[in-house]
Amino acid sequence: MAYRDPEVRRARDRERIARRTAARVDAGLCAKCGRTEPLPERRLCAPCNDKRNAASRTRDARLRAAGKPRRDPQKARRHRHKMRPGSRAPRAHDLRALR
Ligand SMILES: [Zn+2]
Repeated sequence: MAYRDPEVRRARDRERIARRTAARVDAGLCAKCGRTEPLPERRLCAPCNDKRNAASRTRDARLRAAGKPRRDPQKARRHRHKMRPGSRAPRAHDLRALR
């Protein structure tokens, strides 16, 4: 079905996908593929979870290479403080300065 206004199509797609995801979660299935049970305490099954993690890492690597910030500011902050050879663990005052 073609829509004259792409904004209308996007809004209806969002509603449709939200309904589909809610139905899958209610049925106790993976929210993404809807074929298998999700991992305990999770919404996604193991293969979907792995795929999503790989996609996130690829996206973050691309953003990092382009010098753009990561999508999640909390994770970006943690990433900056990852231990590198010759570095030390962050002190409380380092973390306070970032807030
Ligand atoms: Zn799945």
